[in-house]
Amino acid sequence: MERFDLEDVVAPPTHTAETPLKDWRLKYQAGTIQKQDFTDFFQKQSRKYFHYHYEAEQDTTRPSLRCTYNEAGAKEHIINVLMEFVLGDNPKIVLDKLQQEGNTATVCGKVFKNGEPTYSCRECGMDPTCVLCVNCFKQSAHRYHKYKMSTSGGGGCCDCGDEEAWKKDHYCEEHLRGKENPKGSTIITDAIKERCELAFTAILTFSVNFLEIEPNASLECLDGDVDDGEEACFCTVLYNDESHTFDQVIQTLTKIAKCRQKDAMEIVASIDREGRAVVKCDTFSECHQLQEAIEKQGVLSLSTLQTARAAQSLRVSVLNIRAVACQQLALQLLTWFQEFLIKHCVFRQIFARLIMDRKAPYSVRHILEYDVKLWKTARTCWHRLLISGMLMEYDNKRALAQEFSKHYASVVQDFIRDDHEHSFSIISLSVQLFTVPSIAHYLMANEGIFHKLLHTFYHVAVETYIKNKTLQFSKTVNVSFKRAAYILYDLRYILSFKPDVWTDPLREGFLEGCKALLKLLNVMQGMESTTRQTGQHMDYEPEWECAFNLHIKLATTITLVLDWCATDAAVLTKLYQMVMRYLCSNGFIVDSATKREERHVAGHVAECFIYDVSSRPVSIHLPLSRFFAGIYLHLGTFGLTFDNAVAGNKRTPEEIIEPILCTQTMIAQVHAGMWRRNGYSLLHQLYFYRIVRCRSEMLDRDIIGLQIGAALIESNQYLIHILNKFNLIKWIQSDYEKELTAQAVEDDYMLSMIEEFLELLIVIIGERYVPGVSNVTEEDRTKKEIIQLLCSKPYSHSELNRALPDTYNDTAVEDVIDSVAIFKKPQKSDAKGVYELKEELYDEYNMYFYHYTKEEKSKSEETQRSRRKSKNELVCCPPPKLPKLTDGFVSIANLLQCDVMMTILTTVLDRAIDTSSKSFAENHLQEALYLIGYGLQEEQSGYYPFLSFYVQSQKYNMLSKLEELSRSARVEAHRDFLLWTIKKFKELQAKDKSNEDAEACSMSADGDLSEISRPLTAAEQEKKEKEERARLAAERRAKIMAQMQNAQNNFMKSNAEMFASANVPAASRDSTTTMEWQDDGTNMDEEGAVAYNSLACLGVERRLQQPEEQSYKCILCFEDCTVTKDGPTLVYSAFVQKSKVLTPDTRYPSSVHTSSCGHVMHVDCWQEYYINEESKEQRRPHRSRQPFPQAPQSTEFQCPYCRCLSNSVLPLSAPLSKYSMPMVIHKGDELFPIDMWIEVMKTLSDELNMPSLEDNFEDSLPPAHTILSRANLCANIEQFERIAQPIDPVELPASWNTFMQRYIKSVCQHAPTEFEKSEKVGLLWLWHTCIYTVQALEVYLRAVNKPFSCEMSIRHKSCLSGLIRASCLSGANLSSADVASLKKAAAQMLDTVFKQKSGSVVEWNCFSIMVQMICIVPNLLFSSSHKAVVANGSMMDFYTMQLFFMANMVKAIVLFEPPTTDNGMAMDVDEEYEQEVKDLPQRILDNIAEFYRKYNFAARRQALSTTQQQQKQQARPQSETQSQSQSQSQPQTPPKSDEASTQETQSTDTISLNDEATTSAHSVDDSIKVPCDLKTIAALYEHIKMEMTEFLRCCCLFFHFVTDVEFPDEHSNANMDSYKGMCEYLGLEHGLQAYFDSAGCFASILETFASHPDIVYCDLVTKKKRCGRDFALVPCTLPIPKLVDLPEDYSDLINTVSDFVCPNSEREEMKTPTMCLICGKIICAQSFCCQPELDGRAVGACTYHAHFCGAEISVLLRVRDCQIIYLGRSKGCFVQPPYLDQYGETDMGLRRGNPLRLCPERYQKLQLTWLSHGLYEEIARLNDNTSVVPTQWHHM
Ligand SMILES: [Zn+2]
Ligand SMILES: [Zn+2]
Ligand SMILES: [Zn+2]
Ligand SMILES: [Zn+2]
Ligand SMILES: [Zn+2]
Ligand SMILES: [Zn+2]
Ligand SMILES: [Zn+2]
Repeated sequence: MERFDLEDVVAPPTHTAETPLKDWRLKYQAGTIQKQDFTDFFQKQSRKYFHYHYEAEQDTTRPSLRCTYNEAGAKEHIINVLMEFVLGDNPKIVLDKLQQEGNTATVCGKVFKNGEPTYSCRECGMDPTCVLCVNCFKQSAHRYHKYKMSTSGGGGCCDCGDEEAWKKDHYCEEHLRGKENPKGSTIITDAIKERCELAFTAILTFSVNFLEIEPNASLECLDGDVDDGEEACFCTVLYNDESHTFDQVIQTLTKIAKCRQKDAMEIVASIDREGRAVVKCDTFSECHQLQEAIEKQGVLSLSTLQTARAAQSLRVSVLNIRAVACQQLALQLLTWFQEFLIKHCVFRQIFARLIMDRKAPYSVRHILEYDVKLWKTARTCWHRLLISGMLMEYDNKRALAQEFSKHYASVVQDFIRDDHEHSFSIISLSVQLFTVPSIAHYLMANEGIFHKLLHTFYHVAVETYIKNKTLQFSKTVNVSFKRAAYILYDLRYILSFKPDVWTDPLREGFLEGCKALLKLLNVMQGMESTTRQTGQHMDYEPEWECAFNLHIKLATTITLVLDWCATDAAVLTKLYQMVMRYLCSNGFIVDSATKREERHVAGHVAECFIYDVSSRPVSIHLPLSRFFAGIYLHLGTFGLTFDNAVAGNKRTPEEIIEPILCTQTMIAQVHAGMWRRNGYSLLHQLYFYRIVRCRSEMLDRDIIGLQIGAALIESNQYLIHILNKFNLIKWIQSDYEKELTAQAVEDDYMLSMIEEFLELLIVIIGERYVPGVSNVTEEDRTKKEIIQLLCSKPYSHSELNRALPDTYNDTAVEDVIDSVAIFKKPQKSDAKGVYELKEELYDEYNMYFYHYTKEEKSKSEETQRSRRKSKNELVCCPPPKLPKLTDGFVSIANLLQCDVMMTILTTVLDRAIDTSSKSFAENHLQEALYLIGYGLQEEQSGYYPFLSFYVQSQKYNMLSKLEELSRSARVEAHRDFLLWTIKKFKELQAKDKSNEDAEACSMSADGDLSEISRPLTAAEQEKKEKEERARLAAERRAKIMAQMQNAQNNFMKSNAEMFASANVPAASRDSTTTMEWQDDGTNMDEEGAVAYNSLACLGVERRLQQPEEQSYKCILCFEDCTVTKDGPTLVYSAFVQKSKVLTPDTRYPSSVHTSSCGHVMHVDCWQEYYINEESKEQRRPHRSRQPFPQAPQSTEFQCPYCRCLSNSVLPLSAPLSKYSMPMVIHKGDELFPIDMWIEVMKTLSDELNMPSLEDNFEDSLPPAHTILSRANLCANIEQFERIAQPIDPVELPASWNTFMQRYIKSVCQHAPTEFEKSEKVGLLWLWHTCIYTVQALEVYLRAVNKPFSCEMSIRHKSCLSGLIRASCLSGANLSSADVASLKKAAAQMLDTVFKQKSGSVVEWNCFSIMVQMICIVPNLLFSSSHKAVVANGSMMDFYTMQLFFMANMVKAIVLFEPPTTDNGMAMDVDEEYEQEVKDLPQRILDNIAEFYRKYNFAARRQALSTTQQQQKQQARPQSETQSQSQSQSQPQTPPKSDEASTQETQSTDTISLNDEATTSAHSVDDSIKVPCDLKTIAALYEHIKMEMTEFLRCCCLFFHFVTDVEFPDEHSNANMDSYKGMCEYLGLEHGLQAYFDSAGCFASILETFASHPDIVYCDLVTKKKRCGRDFALVPCTLPIPKLVDLPEDYSDLINTVSDFVCPNSEREEMKTPTMCLICGKIICAQSFCCQPELDGRAVGACTYHAHFCGAEISVLLRVRDCQIIYLGRSKGCFVQPPYLDQYGETDMGLRRGNPLRLCPERYQKLQLTWLSHGLYEEIARLNDNTSVVPTQWHHM
């Protein structure tokens, strides 16, 4: 006897005495061990790992129950111990060795989780159920094939390595290796196997025992256990069902179980996920009480609920807590077991052997049958176990399949009775078993599976509805019918593969199944029949969907059965006989009682059935007749015919086609309008009858049936039958017209019925693209279908696929598409690519194509006519050439020449000629011509020797009739068609030798005809008319043009102002404005002369431009209006929103953005409009109200003109120069200089900080001149006022003020909540939004890469001018309260800017402070003098701007990182800069270099590290003397640049060296000079220019609207977008010289900014401030904010999210993983597990995230649905994703599954929508459509 394995000896046992391992081993040795030993152990141990406690948070009366199961503990103390018993002391080593052996499996078998991506190969997959997992796909050849991707619903498995799943490339690389490895294992010894068996048995037994829901069973298992004195040792457990809604269960829990809402939601989520949850832990009686209460609750609510199912009570049970613990352990054991089985096939062998033992309690049979008694998770565990254990090896799979089939009937009935989804039933395993062809065939032959499935279906779903041998569904079909339909899917799997070889058992099994199928079809024949309603309408719409559902589910099976039988003569014959038997016995329409009468037409007689369709029941369901038609098509293949295929009793062809003919007649009558009173039900049925999903086994088969009739019945008789059925026997008689006049019009429907009749003939003769009817292949059939589709319009790929019948082999379809069509790539980024038909194939167009709807028919005809017209061809749609009929169907061609047909055709022609005829319609002629055309085409083809259409027709004088008609005015529309027909006739005539004699005479006659009276073709006719029309039109046009011109002029006059970009040069000012200017005491002429030479809007000798008085049109009252200083007030509609677009970082608070569409209204008009809208909104139906409270006092409305979303109005202001006339200072004028101004500012700051100011500000702040003198400046106040330009306080109209306040209020409402109320000084927020909006626009324009000067839209212009002017005016209109409240902010600002208090320049947002300063400071300064300052581009404004320009420059220099020169390469600097720098005087260069060394962080860091090196060296003086001396001798030149250093550099250094004294002492040795050569300076200069861009652009925008000075247009030499151009516009010096000249005052200003202690004393290594805090750096130029980068391949995205687990429940993967495109975070969306609270309400995780990430709005991508959402607060919209397939189409919901790639243009568009703050508007726009389904956005 073998003792222990080798491994057992290697390591000593690590376990303490409490483990049973020793005990087990001893018993094992002794051979006394039993599974009981293990199961007892499991049972005892499990309780240790299951715990619960009650947590009382705030609400002590409703404590929350917390149940925990310590999985890790159980793993260590139970599973690991078991493993050691099985594998020895080092299980891991054994398993690793097994892994190395490499013989894990040749199939993958990976079980998919919900949402995991799957891939199917369209080229190699045997059917669409064959899928690969990501790993296998990425390693397989299929990745280069045409594939589809999808996401799994969970439960399926990877088919890699299954030889029957793939046509080729069966293995991925990994599993191919697995195949090459040998079977068996040297590691797994017999002893291990033996112990495996023991352990497996124990696990299976234990799990089977405990997992059942039935409480009693599990309680019994625990008999004999003592409860350890625990009192509360029971649990009330609530189970999942599909009949209660989440809300119902939540309600029950909160009401009955007294759970808190939040807990209830969690419980419900976990019930939904796992199938059950513990609701209460307590004593038995308590738990039992709760159970009863919940169960009672369900019964009570019965009356209120509609369906009986929903009235069922919730499923509850009370379990002993030990049982629950055992169940948890059992689940864990099963999960572990499943993973263990994957590790080796030997394990699976053992497992299979165990469960195939029929007597065992855990046999397959038991697992199958008790599935329904388990809850979701438990079921899933078993399913996975079976998949991993039984499906990896073929033999096991077959054994399982066999067992599965044996118990199919009972299992499926369990499923039907149960209410869980299909995927949670073990019956869903069928797809794994039945789709394996060899297994399917085996089951059919040996288990009679085909019959079993259908029999079960018939028994459970159909039998109860049979009345009078026919199915009659009632209005309420029970649920079991729907669930039973899954059987039909299984059937489809079984039949999906035709057998290559038939065996007798297979034939038998197949035919047995067919018998059951025919039995079903027999009761379906004639089901849901209807009778024409006369008199009154139907009382109720009869049920019809059910029958169609049955049809749809069965149709594929029928098609498959027909495919099968076509491969075997014996089967075909047998089946044909069977069908015939059923046809004989079925009495629908045709039975022995049906009357027959003789009918005579054109000398022929037929005995017709007398079954009046318009008064007796007919049905659209004739599956038996259609099945016959389907099978008949295959007879020819085996040389069988109608006569020889079946002996004895059979139906005649007439009898067989009769039901079909009745149905066709009914359809014709419906079209003719005879069935109007039968309601919609019938119309729906007819619609479905011909749609692509249903028609192949309905319409198509009916036509085949009629064609079979035409082939078998004598042609004349056949036509008489149809005529009779259509009630047209009388019509065909020659004396019909006479009788008609005598009797008056007999029948309203006659004309339509004739039309329908002729069309049916066209279809019977012309629709032959069916294999078996004519010599075509399936491919030809598809080709024809596509050609017809493309004749009506170009189709996109998805449209085309939707319009074609489902075939799995769609790669073949794609080849067909490519053979007939050309793919036209989309022109625009948001358009789809489309297929267009190849030119040469248009001849195949058949306008009577039977799959066309009426609309498609007329549309395609229209398209084709205009196509032909454009090509100068005859404008008509002649019939195409037809394919050759097969031998069995040649008689169809004979229809065309038989006497009755000739009579029909000539009747139509005669009546067309006879202008008095009343029984004629134009369409009749067209159809008759079509039939004649077919006759001519068929004869020309020469396929049928018996066909002599020409000769036959000449007997009826057809040609001459046609010629006569071609001259008739009555049928002018069809003249071209007639000409085409005549031409064809002539061609045949010429060919016809027998006509040779007659030829000469008729030819001459022809010649005459064509010479003299050849009728004009439609085109010629048209040409003539056209000329005449053209002449008339020209006259008319001239007249209209004159009127239009007039109207346009008027329009231009009235509207130009609204759209024009306004300002005209001063030359065109009207005289009054000029007067105004002169009043201000300026000499205009002189000023103007200077002003127009300058481009600048600021500074000395700035340009002056008086804007034209802008005139608008109120969009509400259409009155013209202008903005003036004193009203009336006009407003823009505006939209104010929170925004974090510019700083999409959670650390920063949001800002407020304003946008406007620029449409102007009178404020009164708007108010009226708004009140009106508001009341409309209140009247709107409840459904569209927002379920979640909006921002307080939401005032959303739409711009009355453009429907643009708005929520506020912004008052328009007159140009600022109207309030305060700018003054021009000339060069050389005495000027209050900038440095003195700075002194004034400093003094003002002191004054503002004076404590005495607290009480009475206005009085205590000294007037400006006092401040001046306190600043110790001897300049006089007039001089100062000249730069500041104070004016008398501005009087603004009251309504302007009111609406400005309203606007400011709405801005404050959107101010971030982070700010205290007290900080929300309204005016400050007005300036904030103004600044933010300018900056946002600047960034947006930068993102779209447009020059901002000329291409700004009217929207942007209006918005900015409105905001900027309002901001400046509001500053000049301060009340004393305002002044008091702004004082603090102003003091702070001045302290920061001028006194180096608080942050340094690197922390400034320069533009922002500048604007605030311009608006506030001058006004405070003059407040005590009761003067105001309106910003107008005064010198003071200019100084302010200059100051911040320099501040920004300092920032740029300080933060500059010189390009690295690590590798000794020269820096890459633009030569242009280098040249410019070279031209600078040396002292300037020196100054720059010094400034750089002194303040630049990088330079100082470098100096510091050099110093430290030196200090180190100094520390070791004796050893390093030499190097020390070296470094001392040339401290200034680092080794790298010594050779290269230029003359300039050296000299710079020398000078700097002499200048040493200035620098203060800190850690850097001042003697050390970091290199600063010309190149560095050039690079620095380049950097400065770049970094100034944003500031300059913002300033240009701002001052443009302050001064109204136009941007220099593109013709002027300055490039506005360049650094230089902008400096010029702003009046700034652009060179560096001006700023680094120590003689000027700028240098010292720069120095002041740079010498801020934060900068000087900062820690260069850690980059922290002196105080230890980080710099809150504000970059000079904000990078353009971007949405996250998305992967190019969409499946990568799916793969990355497939592993994400919900943050709230660790084991569950997310159901709807959603990616925030702003920050890239993956969010668990729209799920009960993640509902954080926001403002006291539970919201979806996305809403919550958006609140913080994007200031209430975000752009999200739902990864599994491939859908973008713009999600705002309880509003949102779905948007097309930026991913496209190869056809340029998106795939929302991943329905098509084509590989998707990122479309950068689309993504860019999305980015810009976000960047331009357009999300809200887009949401509003998309929701404006009333058909939008309301979505609970706040649950997202
Ligand atoms: Zn796989
Ligand atoms: Zn694989
Ligand atoms: Zn492939
Ligand atoms: Zn108005
Ligand atoms: Zn508008
Ligand atoms: Zn979640
Ligand atoms: Zn985010």
